[in-house]
Amino acid sequence: MIPVIDGHNDALLRAWRSGESLRERSEEGHLDLPRMREGGVAAGFFAIFVPEDDYEVDPREAVVVTEDGWEVPFAEPLIFERAAPIAHEVLAIAERDLTIVRTIADLEQCLEAGAEPGAILHLEGAEPIDAGLDNLDDWIERGLRSIGIVWSRPNAFGCGVPFHYPGTPDEGPGLTDAGRNLVRACNERGVMLDLAHLNEQGFFDVAAITDAPLVVSHSAAHSLAPMPRSLTDEEIDAIGDSGGLVGVVFDTVMTRSDGDLVFDTHLDVIAGHIEYIAERIGLDHVALGSDFDGCYPPAALDDASKMQALLEVLRWSDDELAKLAHGNWLRVLRATWKS
Ligand code: ZN
Repeated sequence: MIPVIDGHNDALLRAWRSGESLRERSEEGHLDLPRMREGGVAAGFFAIFVPEDDYEVDPREAVVVTEDGWEVPFAEPLIFERAAPIAHEVLAIAERDLTIVRTIADLEQCLEAGAEPGAILHLEGAEPIDAGLDNLDDWIERGLRSIGIVWSRPNAFGCGVPFHYPGTPDEGPGLTDAGRNLVRACNERGVMLDLAHLNEQGFFDVAAITDAPLVVSHSAAHSLAPMPRSLTDEEIDAIGDSGGLVGVVFDTVMTRSDGDLVFDTHLDVIAGHIEYIAERIGLDHVALGSDFDGCYPPAALDDASKMQALLEVLRWSDDELAKLAHGNWLRVLRATWKS
């Protein structure tokens, strides 16, 4: 097995809702520690994400059919007073269940045979950080190493893209002053910024001021599947120029050209996004970002234990697959994190 560093999962959200421990193999969802071990997933970015509602809402029920596709009503802004306490509840689950990766040395340790799978703590949507950044250092002290400026809704820092098909990421305004301050503060502290869910204006605002490689943890190529969440060729080129990477998402809806949810979608569809990005900006700039427990993966890849199946459909050398699976994440995090 080729060890994998996975760019994004929402297993903590599932655990927060269900009360399950991620140390046990679950019959539900996509990812827990036993299934990571079975699939050779050495480490992953574990999202701390605060949903709009306490109860689970099936996003499929919110889909509205339009003339040429579909849309989901744009999520409402989330206030700090709701986001911060729930994020701390989710953080407590991570501290209870997971081995938290704080340094490159920790991450390298995870790649050793027989090591415990590691968890890189990521905020998906910066709403639990107050707009004055007063509690940013507390979060870093607790182990946070990656911040997604927005999820698919506006917040104090920037604006995320809505879910619809077809569409482009060119919707909404760019970063706010607080968003620019967040970028600079993360640069100074060596915290990774994740541009997944960010709109195009915000993306290029970050690109203009950051001194770190650009990272989009779970996305796809807009040229192959025209969704606002996907990356335009201009965005992909900017990521390559910065030395960064795109983690390709395993979602069937985001990777299929027709934007449909089809569980028997062939793995070649997801591999096609990996190939496209590798051909455009080089295979040093593409990685994996499953979005397990946050998306609709195809049946052949529908939990972490099946991770190696995707590598098997790519006709790449072992060295190339090692870059895709973990080497590119290691390089980008070495260039981004400060000890
Ligand atoms: Zn996401």
